[in-house]
Amino acid sequence: QCIAVCPCGALSSNSSIAEVWAAIRDPKKTVVCQIAPAPRAALGEMFGLGSVDVTGKIVTALRKSGFDKVFDTVFTADMTTVEESNEFLGRLTSGGKLPLFTSCCPGWVKYAEEFHPELLENLSTCRSPQQMFGSVLKKKYAKDLGITPEEMFVVSIMPCTAKKYEAKRPEFMTDGVYDVDAVLTTVEAAQLFKEAGILFDNLEEGIFDQPMEQTTGSGVLFGTTGGVMESVVRYVAGKLLNAEGRIDVEFTRGLDDTKIADLNVGDTKLTLAIVNGLAAAEELIKKIQSGELEVHAVEVMACPAGCVGGGGQPAQNDRKARQCRSDEIYNIDSKMVLHKAQDNEDLDKIFQKYWGGCCNHDTHHDLHTHYHAKKRISGNEIVIKDSEGPEIA
Ligand code: SF4
Repeated sequence: QCIAVCPCGALSSNSSIAEVWAAIRDPKKTVVCQIAPAPRAALGEMFGLGSVDVTGKIVTALRKSGFDKVFDTVFTADMTTVEESNEFLGRLTSGGKLPLFTSCCPGWVKYAEEFHPELLENLSTCRSPQQMFGSVLKKKYAKDLGITPEEMFVVSIMPCTAKKYEAKRPEFMTDGVYDVDAVLTTVEAAQLFKEAGILFDNLEEGIFDQPMEQTTGSGVLFGTTGGVMESVVRYVAGKLLNAEGRIDVEFTRGLDDTKIADLNVGDTKLTLAIVNGLAAAEELIKKIQSGELEVHAVEVMACPAGCVGGGGQPAQNDRKARQCRSDEIYNIDSKMVLHKAQDNEDLDKIFQKYWGGCCNHDTHHDLHTHYHAKKRISGNEIVIKDSEGPEIA
């Protein structure tokens, strides 16, 4: 049996492969898969292909394995960028809580809930791309298919086991069923393809399903440290400067555990910080809280190098392997036609169709969340709620 371990400390989990096979064999289930950015640069390593982009092969392998629909989590990474960038601009202009901390890494969110409850109002309220897709699929897309949320089984291919924990958070349910039913790590997805007898390296390139097919390079960058920040900067710079085409940001790149830079976006002066690894996050938080450093936004990823170094990635997960995967993520971005989230036309259509636009009351209901201070007692999590008292999570 495959056991995956999370490097951010607390999380380990059994494989979900048997559960996924059961759903695929169940004629009453429509089985939908989403693929996170980081696994596409690492899954090929399990088949001797190295750290090359195998997105199209993963799509084909999923269809051959029996999945009914296949989508790209990069689509909802673009969605996260739009919602989070506007949240950031809103806080900047209205005197809201700053610095804004990113919240798409569940390892970091859990750490903040346990050890820095004073920062919870600083966390972006945006759900992670995984949970945005789960919400879209169960709350909206299931209706388009004429099925109930119970009849849809959503699987994610993710780089870490922290995403399994995130999927089972009670906040992320629709009509009593989880928005994401099962999470396969990169290693588990490769295992599933092997069990299906698929000759992965010989597969042709598949394409994602409509109507959420188009993606941008900005969303792919979520797979490596600095990528969420670069996506937000591309969006904000594009919007404030009315800039078309590519916007590349240099300070966000590289695997250093802490990167800080001042940026001038027109008349707006921003200080931005990026950390990977919780030790680096802790150091940065100390500097911010002591007044030594003033920043407007912080990206935190719990794993070294971000998601390319997640605990569900293939076992060769040293700095060299992480660097190769990170390089491939930027390589994918460089080859893509679109580079900013606001250029994603499918995303615009989905925002219009499901919520009448982006960044409004209804997207807030379906695509955002809130966090609770937590205390760990004898291995159990206790959620401390302001008005309702403690509850076992
Ligand atoms: Fe998972 Fe990425 Fe966070 Fe690591 S950095 S815990 S892989 S979301």
